[in-house]
Amino acid sequence: MPTSSSFLLRNAIVVPMEGRKEVFDPGSVLVLDGRIAAVGNVDEIDHHPAVGAVPTLDLTGHVLIPGLTNAHLHSGLLRGTAESLALWEWLEQHVDPAHRALTEDIAEHASWMAYTECLRGGVTSVMDMWRHMHRSAHVADVLGIRATLVPYTADRYDWFETLGTNRQLLESHRTAADGRVRTWVGLEHIMYCSADMFRAAAALAEEFDTGLHTHSSESIWEVQECLRRFGRRPIEEFFDRGVLGPRTVIAHCVWLDDREVQLLAQTGTAMVHCPCSNMKLSSGAARIGAYREHGVVCAIGSDGEKENNNLDILQEMKFASLLQKVSTLDPTSGDPWDVLDMATLSGARALGLDDVTGSLEVGKDADIVAVDLRALHFVPVMHGHDFNAPAHLVFTASSRDVTDVWVRGAHLVSGGEVLTADVAAVATGAQAAADELFRRRRELPPLG
Ligand SMILES: [Zn+2]
Repeated sequence: MPTSSSFLLRNAIVVPMEGRKEVFDPGSVLVLDGRIAAVGNVDEIDHHPAVGAVPTLDLTGHVLIPGLTNAHLHSGLLRGTAESLALWEWLEQHVDPAHRALTEDIAEHASWMAYTECLRGGVTSVMDMWRHMHRSAHVADVLGIRATLVPYTADRYDWFETLGTNRQLLESHRTAADGRVRTWVGLEHIMYCSADMFRAAAALAEEFDTGLHTHSSESIWEVQECLRRFGRRPIEEFFDRGVLGPRTVIAHCVWLDDREVQLLAQTGTAMVHCPCSNMKLSSGAARIGAYREHGVVCAIGSDGEKENNNLDILQEMKFASLLQKVSTLDPTSGDPWDVLDMATLSGARALGLDDVTGSLEVGKDADIVAVDLRALHFVPVMHGHDFNAPAHLVFTASSRDVTDVWVRGAHLVSGGEVLTADVAAVATGAQAAADELFRRRRELPPLG
């Protein structure tokens, strides 16, 4: 197996996702010094002058795709313990108490679990909203994954991060690990943050020349409550508060009217679709087809372990497609190529990283994922006229089918094994941290 950051990945089905539906089958990807040096048909790349001087990995039977982006995630340890409630009761009963009981050490174990699970499943770039994120930065640095860190800030409750601690993280980790780890400004939610805090957050992002990430329009109650309190729908209120723009990314956006969709498009604001979370919390179905038609950049996110309950972006693509089909009653919606785009190039674009990742193009960093299509559940794999790899990736594959992952040419997952973390130790550590979190939560004093 290649260990250098220069190597040839040979004889796979190569799906570059650079904006056209072009594929190379069979194809190869040549990586030199961590960057993609050539992508094309096997015969063509075999004649490249650098081939022969670098190790070759034969990937017969695999499909190569760009590293996946999980654009909305929360590290956490509540998996399977916060079930069968709607959003606002669920936040009050499960999520807020866990925030109150959280410590730095527990938070780090949660990030180890989340980022390792993501990486193992072909995610090379995460955007995580969490707390004590200097510890998350350490995890991402060691693991080798790309991470955009977004502190959970709020000013209506005292257990969240503040814009003050967000500023501290920006000062220490605006960029770390040679730019692989970055910090943005976070806002938990419109009901958790004052209008003044929104304006201050926008100013903080401007000051540090960085992005801003928040949630909105996740439940219909929230839209109605926003109309009642502010006389405007959430995205109109966001516009008034000055937080929309090309470096703002908003998770969920389930309940947008046409005017709000236009506001996102006009301001260049991106959204992150979290279909599993939206279905599990009975939030609703975002009109992704309409958003994309209006030119809104739509990414995909798993949301947290407590509302999904896994961080499997390959599976998330299937749910994204199926939710479109069932909510529009249009079988042509949720096209596999569109969903793949959301998880790759559009995901990178939402995070402002499309100049370095999100597609297999010459000059970009070698963030590459190999999926083994030789298992029984992928039969038949077809080529040429009946080419079906995109449908296999979206409707059949899961994280367990990922064999290899590279970030910036560094081989981080090989043969399904994570090379930069002891997965058993990550699981043991996260289990102990969850036990400690639940013990602390049981002992919380009642809120005054
Ligand atoms: Zn979320």
